[in-house]
Amino acid sequence: MRRVVILGSTGSVGTQALDVVERSGGELELVGLAAASSFERLIAQAEKHGVTRVALADDAAAARAAEVWTRGEVLRGNEGLVELIVNSGADLVLNAMIGSAGLGPTVAALGEGIDLALANKESLVVGGELVMALAEATGAQVIPVDSEHSALFQLVNSEQRPGTIDRLVLTASGGPFRGRRLEDLKSVTREEALAHPTWDMGGKISIDSATLMNKGLEVIEAMHLFAMPLERIDVVVHPQSIIHAMIQLNDGASLAHLGNPDMRVPISYALHYPERMDVPVRPLDLAELGQLTFEHPDEEAFPCLRLAREAALAGGTAPCAMNAANEVAVQAFLDREMPFTGIAEVIERTLEAHEPVPIHHFNVLYGADAEAREIAREFVGGVRA
Ligand code: MG
Repeated sequence: MRRVVILGSTGSVGTQALDVVERSGGELELVGLAAASSFERLIAQAEKHGVTRVALADDAAAARAAEVWTRGEVLRGNEGLVELIVNSGADLVLNAMIGSAGLGPTVAALGEGIDLALANKESLVVGGELVMALAEATGAQVIPVDSEHSALFQLVNSEQRPGTIDRLVLTASGGPFRGRRLEDLKSVTREEALAHPTWDMGGKISIDSATLMNKGLEVIEAMHLFAMPLERIDVVVHPQSIIHAMIQLNDGASLAHLGNPDMRVPISYALHYPERMDVPVRPLDLAELGQLTFEHPDEEAFPCLRLAREAALAGGTAPCAMNAANEVAVQAFLDREMPFTGIAEVIERTLEAHEPVPIHHFNVLYGADAEAREIAREFVGGVRA
């Protein structure tokens, strides 16, 4: 039996993870749940799954939860999240928090030597070098939940000899605006941007998919997870999302990972790793699909992919600043404060204003994150005006 804490259980990945736990036939035991602020849903989940300890990152939400829920313990704030991670006897933490707020919990789990099923890509985008070094130091495993990285993890692990992998290839659905020109993107609405063609996801990640920033974040995530230089990671647009990733080997062979897009597959793999358990997904029928198509990403219409690569190349705190600017910009778009195309503009200007410094400590990241948010908010005002 494996004892599991789920962070971000009220979100899309978290809810599907609860499904996976329920189907595990007792293989997985839930020992803690956490969310940012949705306390009513969190309490309902705890009641349903027999969990007696929860944590809420938001102080006010935690206070409300403690008032209405007397059958269990409510931990409060970021310290509460850390306490839930380190004091619940967890063997595995699933981190499905949203944004750079996931970095603290990632560090807490790995620092304790607890294996981490990572659905929070921002942890690696922001602090990849330190995070992977921490895992190495404590011997904890980082098992990716992101579908492309779960695929890569399986493909990379299938190669036993070092030095055989030439390139990693990530596929991208292209998002809801694939094929449109930059001009056409100025007037797209929040609702159009939230309608993702192939994956069922939350608000922030849906917007990231629409701008292709999601793929930019994933390139950086892959760079850290698989210790692969940026220039050996490719992105190809594949609207059907059937091939999730591919590795190209030194003898000319390429290995790909295929399946109908369903997040329960990578979630189940991460929670049960190295075992595989049954997941009730539709089997892949290639003849029924008929054809799979591929194209280059359009970096003129979708500059975020280029911006992510530029930030990764600049190194130091640049990816952290880029991520912070993206979070501020996405929120501003969701709040209808600026147009869709403003997202890339705010990120680009924030990166121009940011002076990257080397990262010696996690505190450097928290400082860079806060500073970049402030700069980005000013640019949001500028784009709006
Ligand atoms: Mg993904």
